[in-house]
Amino acid sequence: MDLQFTAAQRAFRAEARAWLREHVPATPLASYDTRAGFEQHRAWEATLAAGRYSAVTWPTELGGRGADLIEWLIFEEEYSAADAPLRVNQNGILLLGPTLMEFGSAEQKARFLPRMARCDDMWAQGWSEPNAGSDMAAITSRARLDGEHYVLNGQKTWSTRALFANWLFGLFRSDPASSRHHGLSYLLVPLDAPGITVRPIKALNGTLAFAEVFFDEVRVPLANRIGEAGQGWQVAMATAGFERGLLLRSPARFQRSAARLVALYRRHREQAERDPSIRDAVLKAWMDAEAYNLGSYHTVGRLARGERVGAEASANKIFWSELDLLLHETALRILGSRAELTDDAEAQDWIEGFLFAQAGPIYAGTNEIQRNIIAERVLGLPKG
Ligand SMILES: Cc1cc2nc3c(=O)[nH]c(=O)nc-3n(C[C@H](O)[C@H](O)[C@H](O)COP(=O)(O)OP(=O)(O)OC[C@H]3O[C@@H](n4cnc5c(N)ncnc54)[C@H](O)[C@@H]3O)c2cc1C
Repeated sequence: MDLQFTAAQRAFRAEARAWLREHVPATPLASYDTRAGFEQHRAWEATLAAGRYSAVTWPTELGGRGADLIEWLIFEEEYSAADAPLRVNQNGILLLGPTLMEFGSAEQKARFLPRMARCDDMWAQGWSEPNAGSDMAAITSRARLDGEHYVLNGQKTWSTRALFANWLFGLFRSDPASSRHHGLSYLLVPLDAPGITVRPIKALNGTLAFAEVFFDEVRVPLANRIGEAGQGWQVAMATAGFERGLLLRSPARFQRSAARLVALYRRHREQAERDPSIRDAVLKAWMDAEAYNLGSYHTVGRLARGERVGAEASANKIFWSELDLLLHETALRILGSRAELTDDAEAQDWIEGFLFAQAGPIYAGTNEIQRNIIAERVLGLPKG
């Protein structure tokens, strides 16, 4: 592994840093899980897109910079260091975007990708159903063929920020005789189509952004299908790989939290040192964040040599979600029970992050399922 950055990479870093210094909002935005905060984040996405920083790895003609993955890691480091706002359209940019690039037609790419980069369209992911979460192949939402349209019926659930989204990408059973992984199609659905009801689900922190989506005779043109009819599972699995693998959680985000945790420990040293195991936890969290960073550069190096990230993406997902828990649990141990009673902004930030960290082992495929994948496909153990 070559640990030196090239002159071009250093120049890219300097350019990104200067742009962020000039453009990152001086006051933090409201939570993107509120309507007002969502609109602020959407406006920030448009600013990023105008600077061609919303999707740096995308080709230039689609609004990106054609950056490679090392440059993406560099950009993420600068983005976190600048305390820039959380990204609101990750489902689009990180999940659907790369999927469209791999499986979409030229017309679909031109129609959807530039709008996605600017956050003109906000995308929700519609995979989970009440009886199809970990066992996603149990999907029952149907897409009935009717001339040049599919007619959708059924229900999706746990759809992140679907309350504010105007499009949804999802899997629907298009072959009524099929079962499990077969006969599913990957469809792009406008959420303002007649027959759609979006109903909010209250999250742990009390916000209403998460939603369940109901489909009642919803008509979607065939042109909104990605890939072939019945090929939805393969297309969706490519998207899941992007999500669990490198892209969803860049290491810089955790390094930033680890640095904040060390600063918190130093500020509350007297209280924290009463329990030496807190210092151990701070150290472990900091080292794990560094290890995750080095591991990510290693993975990027492998990808640059033409290797693919396979089932070991599951180990990555377990690592970052457990690291996020450790970071926030340790912060709350330092702050102590008084943290819940103050309106101190720092404590509130850690509590908010702590609540969100609880979801890490669940979304993008639960950690139990990731452990099954590692057991079977990486270690070659027999199926449980
Ligand atoms: C914050 C958040 C955001 C989300 N966003 C989206 C979204 O935008 N779009 C979307 O489609 N979905 C989304 N989800 C849903 C998420 O993908 C599912 O919650 C997840 O796949 C688990 O499915 P489930 O909730 O139905 O739980 P279940 O599948 O019912 O699992 C319940 C428990 O049983 C365990 N379990 C199940 N099967 C096995 C097995 N074979 N071996 C061992 N243990 C097992 C699970 O690990 C879990 O602990 C989101 C979830 C969260 C928490």
